[in-house]
Amino acid sequence: MPAVDVLIARVHELAPEIPASVATSQARLELDRLRRGLDHEGDLPDTNALAESVVRSAQRLLAPAPQPVINATGVIVHTNLGRALLSDRAIAALQEAARGYSDLEYDVASGRRGSRRVHVEDLLCELTGAEAALVVNNNAGAVYLCLAALAGGREVPVSRGEAVEIGGGFRIPDILSQSRAILRDVGTTNRTRLADYAAAIGPNTALLLRVHTSNFLVVGFTEGLPLEDLCALGDQHSIPVMNDLGSGTLLPTEEHGLDPEPTVQESVAAGAALTTFSGDKLLGGPQAGIIVGRRDLVDAVAAYPLTRALRADKLCLAALHATLLAYVAGVAESEIPVWRMIAASIADLKRRAQAWAAALGSGFDAEVIPAEATVGGGSLPGQVIPSVALRIASPDHSPDELAAALRAARPPVIGRIEADAFLLSPRTVLEREDGALIAALRGL
Ligand SMILES: *Cc1c(COP(=O)(O)O)cnc(C)c1O
Repeated sequence: MPAVDVLIARVHELAPEIPASVATSQARLELDRLRRGLDHEGDLPDTNALAESVVRSAQRLLAPAPQPVINATGVIVHTNLGRALLSDRAIAALQEAARGYSDLEYDVASGRRGSRRVHVEDLLCELTGAEAALVVNNNAGAVYLCLAALAGGREVPVSRGEAVEIGGGFRIPDILSQSRAILRDVGTTNRTRLADYAAAIGPNTALLLRVHTSNFLVVGFTEGLPLEDLCALGDQHSIPVMNDLGSGTLLPTEEHGLDPEPTVQESVAAGAALTTFSGDKLLGGPQAGIIVGRRDLVDAVAAYPLTRALRADKLCLAALHATLLAYVAGVAESEIPVWRMIAASIADLKRRAQAWAAALGSGFDAEVIPAEATVGGGSLPGQVIPSVALRIASPDHSPDELAAALRAARPPVIGRIEADAFLLSPRTVLEREDGALIAALRGL
């Protein structure tokens, strides 16, 4: 076993850029691992091999993280890959907010303390038709805070078909119990009628909750209840309706050949007293949870003590403001990456996939084939966007091996395997990433 000083000295020779403190801590960990493994392992590695292992651990520790990757999966709002990409306008605003002081909570006119709520509230009201708006850390937080602030200790009827798990452990029944609201199951998994809600309403009912079932579809003998009807029922009993849209969208998806995803404006117009949605799904902005609706209710959520713990930071607010400006200016479809990806033409995608194919060596069988892309992020379940993909096959490599080899490229390229074929989708790859992707294919 080499002395720690000897190992550190060798690490420094191999990689002088590694800070001494990191070299020391990683060398100690390496020697600890070695000592623990001694009983059941064979020969001692030599000092050089140990030093190389320490350098690798140190480099992993010091590498940029989260590491950039190329998303060639065809899933536009890919939660594991960081969801929506920001527009240039949003990135510029975010940098500006990061670099200098701002009037985040300062009223420049009066010289007094201001509110961080004002920055995006007016734009959100302008775009959605709501009276008031509030932005918090994410939509899971928004749903939780609305329930905790407005329904703690009281009943909330939820359709059995909407008591769903969204993913990442976000389960509607759990969120209700965490917020101390009491879940009243209504109707059945596939059918819930207005009469079911009416029967569930009692003196202790706080809210009627509707949840977008995001990541699954119930098909067959089903019956949806128009939001207007639920809101009319709520009105009769003076009970507000809260609508968790999940993704939500400000633009009509049907103009891109997709099924209609409910828009935030429709939810507000139908009479939902509160509508919640994410900032980084179809909106195409930063991670955020957006609450729009009735002034008294939004103010009550804003005043709830825990709301402070889930507040949006200045970088988020700056990026969100710039993203919303693109909608107000009518340029969201050309500026916001999520919408550019949805709108990309098959002809353009085909041309790019063919350029990728040309980079592959003769040992590969590459073909541009019709394939489907998806919006993802819990919007439009079951919906696909007709698209193309580059299918790569090789007599020497399985699809799993091809996928692993491209994940090992720098930056990693993430594709998908479908029907035992390895596919790369151009729809989710930015044009400026084509060069890096082609280099990765050349390296196969
Ligand atoms: C995605 C989603 C959420 C959670 O939103 P986050 O912004 O990820 O916290 C909540 N409800 C629904 C219906 C969703 O689709």
